Amino acid sequence: MTVKTLTPMMRQYLEIKEDYKDAFLFFRLGDFYEMFFEDALKASQILEITLTARDGGQSGKIPMCGVPYHSSAGYIETLVRKGYKVAICEQTEDPALAKGIVRREVIQLITPGTLTEGRTVGEKSNVYIGSAGRTRKGEYALVRIDLSTGEGTATYAGHDPKSLISEAEALQIREIVVPDELYLDLHEQAQARSILLSIENDESEQEGEAVLTAACPEPIRPSAVRLLRYLDRTQKRSLSHLRPVVYRERKSVLSIDPNSRRNLELVRSIRGGGEKGSLFWLLDETVTAMGGRKLKQWIHEPLAEKRAILDRTDAVEELIGDFFVRGEIRELLKGVYDIERLAGKIALGNATGRELAQLRRSLSQAGPIRSALGSSGGDKLKGMGGAIDPCTAVLGILEKSITDDPPLSNKEGGVIREGYHERLDELRDASRNGKDWIAALEAEERRKTGIKSLKIGYNRVFGYYLEVTKSNVHLVDQERYDRKQTLANAERYITPELKQKEAIILNAEEEALLLEAELFQAVREEVKQHIPQIQGLADRLSTLDVLTAFAEVSEKYRFAKPAFHAGRKMKITGGRHPVVEKMLDDGTYVPNDCILDEGANMLLITGPNMSGKSTYMRQVALTVIMAQIGCFVPADHAELPVTDQIFTRIGAADDLAGGQSTFMVEMMESRLALANATPDSLLLFDEIGRGTSTYDGMALAQAMMEYIHDEIGANTLFSTHYHELTGLSETLGRLQNVHVAAAEQNGRVIFLHKVKEGAADKSYGIQVAELAGLPESVIRRADELLGEFEADRPANPPQTEPAGQMSLFDEVEEEAVQNAKGPVSDLSDEIERLDLLRMTPMDAFQWLHGMQERL
Ligand code: ADP
Repeated sequence: MTVKTLTPMMRQYLEIKEDYKDAFLFFRLGDFYEMFFEDALKASQILEITLTARDGGQSGKIPMCGVPYHSSAGYIETLVRKGYKVAICEQTEDPALAKGIVRREVIQLITPGTLTEGRTVGEKSNVYIGSAGRTRKGEYALVRIDLSTGEGTATYAGHDPKSLISEAEALQIREIVVPDELYLDLHEQAQARSILLSIENDESEQEGEAVLTAACPEPIRPSAVRLLRYLDRTQKRSLSHLRPVVYRERKSVLSIDPNSRRNLELVRSIRGGGEKGSLFWLLDETVTAMGGRKLKQWIHEPLAEKRAILDRTDAVEELIGDFFVRGEIRELLKGVYDIERLAGKIALGNATGRELAQLRRSLSQAGPIRSALGSSGGDKLKGMGGAIDPCTAVLGILEKSITDDPPLSNKEGGVIREGYHERLDELRDASRNGKDWIAALEAEERRKTGIKSLKIGYNRVFGYYLEVTKSNVHLVDQERYDRKQTLANAERYITPELKQKEAIILNAEEEALLLEAELFQAVREEVKQHIPQIQGLADRLSTLDVLTAFAEVSEKYRFAKPAFHAGRKMKITGGRHPVVEKMLDDGTYVPNDCILDEGANMLLITGPNMSGKSTYMRQVALTVIMAQIGCFVPADHAELPVTDQIFTRIGAADDLAGGQSTFMVEMMESRLALANATPDSLLLFDEIGRGTSTYDGMALAQAMMEYIHDEIGANTLFSTHYHELTGLSETLGRLQNVHVAAAEQNGRVIFLHKVKEGAADKSYGIQVAELAGLPESVIRRADELLGEFEADRPANPPQTEPAGQMSLFDEVEEEAVQNAKGPVSDLSDEIERLDLLRMTPMDAFQWLHGMQERL
């Protein structure tokens, strides 16, 4: 098929599509957006809509599918959610005036990082678009912007693609803009994390943008500029709400890698994947959408500076102490809408009258909130109150101009208030008087004709008319009445004076609508001048909302104010896992202490399965995180160091979802921790080496502990079911043994969930299996075998493999023997020589592949 033989419109389509090859082109045709060719084939499948064909001129049929304009939003969202881009192509001239083909242009490119509206854009979540670049020193720069709120941050993100993409994921970025030369480097990692890469090479800073990037360090600036260029190019609308990009030093936040965030269930629970059961779920007593988003941001990026943390916890303390002010503030905040996003809509030019009224209502709360804070006894609260700018100028404009309750859409008017504009009032009067006159006419005509059922109606085609039923037609004065329409049982008439009034009313209404639209635009423009002020207020109110929520939950769940000190000592007494405690909801949660000091900052935790080892470790991590976001902590008393990074290796059910073996994930997470931890970090290792054979597992666990002890020195909690490891405390001076106590009663295990000094004496594995309901014969046989094993086991190391712990390598070996196709005697030597800590999953895969080839 050649382009020449296509119809002119299809040629226009292809010309436009040429510039948007990587997007679905939504081509406006009347009331539909149509897609053609490849786009149509793909979209019809993804969206489950009918694929049809269109006549393409001499070229025959062209695949086509379409979605109605008025319900397109959902389809667009579906595509963008799946990681695609959608280019919206509209008719940009009036078809009635067009000579030949109507002109069409792409007016917006919607991408995963720029989706600002829709069902799935959660009120309490941000949507970020990122931009990455490489500095001269080979470090990655990362900038992100939330287009709906205008906020932006910049940071450095390590030296390799992996750390960049992992940082991007941690920062919830869905799309990264990169220059050509980075595309190939990042492509694979980005794809693995479902992050879309988009290209932008333009680094020329436009006039007026300097202020947006001024706070970025020089090496990051090009990335920030490229992001602005990309937004400018794709959004094609005013971006005046963008705020200066804030530079965030990596060391000013507590860094938590994406796996640890998942494992600790910070914003989502592992099972189910919903919010319920997450830390966010526990803490979210915010009353505004902005507050909810800010809380999530804080949980994603806890602080790592004592001063900044205290600013928050001190305010929380004052809020807890002032019950009255707290209640008042929460009530007032309930009247605050999402002004952060409203400001974005005003800037983008699509705020409705109703939304301006929401802004007005929100701003009117600011003054009273300011005074409430001022009336409190606390210095922090007073200070926060003083910093609230009630935006009186904007409020004044909105109060004067916008009606109390504007309609959902601006189309029918009713947005501009009476008394705001003289001419508008006149026009409205004219229309109202005309309608009054018509109502009076009905009565008068009834009297004149004597027809009681005579009535005046209105429709779009004929305008106003007098309607008389067939049986009364003979009473009508045919001279005066002019028949216009005949219905089954009535006739409709007009009179000259009726038409005259009608013209006055319709003209006045039309003019009023136009004038109102103009006035509304002007108001919106005026409000737009104040966007930075509105954003400042949004920021203060959302912060206040989160701090008030912290005060609520801290009081409700009896949390304690943490104290921070310079050293590494950690002293938590009466600590709890706040989410597990809430889920139990019956006061049966057993509190535990966690005491680490400089001389003894590693705990080796033993105890039967299900005794609470993992819960204990998580509760320590959550306590540190809660403290560093500025909340109180689930303990009677807590003295904490300021932690710089948290690394966890905690078994999770979803490990296999990624297609990696559990053991490999375990090793990768361990590598991340060992490579990046500092003495100020917190490390949690749950059952290291569980995924492989006993010897491997124990050897790895011991080697790691020695490494952490000698080389890193970080606060570390290590749990294991290898009792043999408890002997390590003799050689590792800072390692202490603790165990989670369990008791045996009539041969059954009872979990006490109490952490005690010293090592566990027994593993209770068989008793736990019994609790789980394994057949009695199996339990009896296991008991028997255990007796035999224990009888001939030398103290250390064990000679047998516990049941159910088939290792990765056993399988390889076994299969190799079965196949018996080649020499495998040296296999175990080779396995032994593998440097697992340095291997990537790909290395391991290739190694296995090599083995397979040899067999
Ligand atoms: P382990 O890691 O030792 O296998 P978990 O930490 O997974 O055990 O705990 C198992 C279950 O025991 C948890 O789901 C929880 O319901 C309960 N549990 C744990 N710690 C406590 C505690 N301190 N108080 C009450 N129940 C607890």
